[in-house]
Amino acid sequence: MKNIAILGSTGSIGTQTLDVARNNEDIRVVALSAGSNIKLLEDQIREFSPKLVSVADEKNAQLLRKNLEGTGVRVVFGMEGLIEVAQHPDSDMVVTAVVGMMGLRPTVAAINAGKDIALANKETLVTAGHIIMPLAKEKNVRILPVDSEHSAILQCLTGEDQREISKIIITASGGPFRGKTIEQMKDVKLEDALKHPNWSMGKKITIDSATMVNKGLEVIEAKWLFGLAAEDIEVVVQPQSVIHSMVEFVDGGIMAQLGTPDMRLPIQYALYYPHRRPLGGQRLDFKTLKQITFEEPDLENFRGLALAFEALKSGGSMTTVYNAANELAVAKFLKKEINFLDIVTMIEQAMKAHKVIENPDIDQILHVEEQTYEFLNSRW
Ligand code: NDP
Ligand code: MG
Repeated sequence: MKNIAILGSTGSIGTQTLDVARNNEDIRVVALSAGSNIKLLEDQIREFSPKLVSVADEKNAQLLRKNLEGTGVRVVFGMEGLIEVAQHPDSDMVVTAVVGMMGLRPTVAAINAGKDIALANKETLVTAGHIIMPLAKEKNVRILPVDSEHSAILQCLTGEDQREISKIIITASGGPFRGKTIEQMKDVKLEDALKHPNWSMGKKITIDSATMVNKGLEVIEAKWLFGLAAEDIEVVVQPQSVIHSMVEFVDGGIMAQLGTPDMRLPIQYALYYPHRRPLGGQRLDFKTLKQITFEEPDLENFRGLALAFEALKSGGSMTTVYNAANELAVAKFLKKEINFLDIVTMIEQAMKAHKVIENPDIDQILHVEEQTYEFLNSRW
């Protein structure tokens, strides 16, 4: 039996994780957490019978308790509740599928409790990779990527000696505005930015893909997951999203992982690593695919990606500023309070104003997040 807890079970990754659980009889769901979609959470509880669930606020917790009377499920709420789900004594693995820095404390709590992590919540590694990776090593816990690019890299590395990597090549679709100039992106609407060409995902990451900040976050995520220097990480645009990423070794050989864009594969791979399980769904058909093309990323019109490399170079707390500024900017863009291009302008402003703290601890990281919010909220 594989006992799992899911942080963010009502989201895009959360629901697909439950789909994987539904198709594998040896997965037991012991704890779930959601934000405010208690209707869906209730359905999930009735289907999977977890012992513990958490929601964002007390009001929804009370409502849910009333609806679930007699089922024996314990309902908790808030950050404390999320942490309780992350540490549930019956789970072997925690799937971190909440969005944003909210995942930081629960992920640390899960590692401290000895749980393996199937990590979707990349913002945690971007801001605290220097804490998470050594802590996981100390606690003998595995951090297994759910992000498709990082899963692809892990799949390429299986059976290989990590010291023989020459570089990794992260692929990007380029998002809905690939090929456009800054001038042409001036007036893009929220609705256009939410139309990803290949993947169906939560709103925040869909906007991150449109600005290419998602690729920036993934470069930083890769640095920590695979212990690489920024110079050893390359980004290439591969618009069909068929090659999910590649590894080049010291002898020039390159391994790539290909497949249709279906997140259930990387989710399932993380849950069963290093084993593979049958998985339904569409298969790549090279006869109809015909071609796979490549482009260099456009760092001038998509400054969001260039800024990630700058944040990595500055190191310390700068990646937190990059991430926090983006989280705030995307939230504002989703509320139609700012324009599309303002997202990257906000990140740049916050980074310029920040004085780097080397090796920040968790409290300092969360303080930098708060300061970044204050700084930007006073200007935008
Ligand atoms: P979604 O927005 O679809 O889901 C987010 C989840 O977090 C929901 O279950 C939501 O609950 C929950 N949540 C929101 N607020 C709170 C809160 N205050 N307390 C507890 N839970 C809360 O996001 P995605 O699934 O798209 O993304 C999740 C993570 O995975 C992100 O870090 C993203 O970058 C990463 N990722 C996603 C991919 C994808 O294909 N979607 C691919 C690769 C990485 P509710 O809806 O009930 O409010
Ligand atoms: Mg990805």
